[in-house]
Amino acid sequence: MKYISTRGGIEPVSFKEAVMMGLATDGGLLLPQSIPHVDLQTLEEWRSLPYRELAFRIISLFSDDIPAVDLKQLIDRSYDAFQHPQVTPTVHVGGVHILELFHGPTLAFKDVALQLLGNLFEYLLQESGCKMNIVGATSGDTGSAAICGVRGRKNIAIFILHPHGKTSPVQALQMTTVLDDNVHNVAVNGTFDDCQNMVKAMFNDLLFKEKYSLGAVNSINWARVLAQVVYYFHAYFHVADKIGTDVIFSVPTGNFGDIFAGYVAKRMGLPIKRLILATNENNILTRFVNEGDYSLGEVVPTLSPSMDIQVASNFERYLYYLFGENPARVRDTFRSFAQTGRMEFSDGEKKTVSGDFLSQSVNREETLETIKTFDNRNGYLLDPHTAVGVRAALDHLDSGIPVICLATAHPAKFDEAVIIATGRKPEKPASLEGIEKLPTRCKILDADLAEVRKFIELNAI
Ligand SMILES: *Cc1c(COP(=O)(O)O)cnc(C)c1O
Repeated sequence: MKYISTRGGIEPVSFKEAVMMGLATDGGLLLPQSIPHVDLQTLEEWRSLPYRELAFRIISLFSDDIPAVDLKQLIDRSYDAFQHPQVTPTVHVGGVHILELFHGPTLAFKDVALQLLGNLFEYLLQESGCKMNIVGATSGDTGSAAICGVRGRKNIAIFILHPHGKTSPVQALQMTTVLDDNVHNVAVNGTFDDCQNMVKAMFNDLLFKEKYSLGAVNSINWARVLAQVVYYFHAYFHVADKIGTDVIFSVPTGNFGDIFAGYVAKRMGLPIKRLILATNENNILTRFVNEGDYSLGEVVPTLSPSMDIQVASNFERYLYYLFGENPARVRDTFRSFAQTGRMEFSDGEKKTVSGDFLSQSVNREETLETIKTFDNRNGYLLDPHTAVGVRAALDHLDSGIPVICLATAHPAKFDEAVIIATGRKPEKPASLEGIEKLPTRCKILDADLAEVRKFIELNAI
């Protein structure tokens, strides 16, 4: 399996190279040259596999340059870090199926991908004898999950930029209380988009990227998307009464990484009728799906900060398919988007989009109301991100098709919103006990590329 760039400017690379490259060197995103198709008979065979085995079957379709025994071990080790025997269990509550993705070490779905990515990086670096400086931007959850995935690992240093004061207090503590020498937290006086733009700029500076062997952990890394494809299959097998039954997934969306994994699962042949793309007030993607209007707005802070994003980095991967796998069209679209802040779509394209997605933007009031009602009726606490997806799902429940809502974080991770909504504090999982009393380490910097680069140059391995 070879990987190409959405912008068509690189020679095809292997899976290993794609993992190490992160962003493609032409500024595009990496995608498999073709997406393998899984027929109904194979789905039937996969149906009763435990999570780790299923992950192995799916991931090995895309990573034929890693020996099977090694891949198996990497996968097993990654999911041993999870608290639940099913890794990502699905529960039936309040008329929907909740896919609990928060049983990893930092209590958000990003652990599913970043535990694997940490292990993959360590494995590949050991093999090549190289070092890597991971540089990433986070609105909260990626950072803690990435740090947890690589803390204390040899040959890796990690630099995580987060918007100062704009993550939840728990998220900030999960990052800054990690004191391993190879972990560097940078709190940026700015927004998540500022952080992400600086990271993109550093990756686009090929000399800098090469000199410091930059590695990516943002959802632009293909291995992250790939790891997330697995739980769509896993949840499907749990929910569908028979193979072939259609289901709908509702996905609280920020950077479009998680929902893109669902799109890949659909393209592989998993019977997903549609994906519900749920956004908070930062609704550029909802406007795209419902009106064909993709135009930049301002980032506004919400109760679901991990979705406070305007430019969704993985969206480019979807556009590649929407444009009929035509890299020139992707390139032109992004060139003009850089000038105008807008993208235009044909009527045919808009129709394709509505076949793939339904979308709804859920505001603060609706989010709080959903958390409250769901708790009152079902005794089940939703975190504010999950609540956005559940609300969108409940508003579209009428077709008798099972809806699976991705629960992207544990409610204790965003307890402020839960307390406002319900008046009660979610029970703290063991990993958060006493975290506010631990010592922290963090560098505060302005949203200034030169300053951030200097800090990385000084501390790189
Ligand atoms: C990152 C995150 C999201 C958004 O996921 P994307 O892949 O960026 O769309 C939603 N909820 C939580 C809790 C997250 O951490």
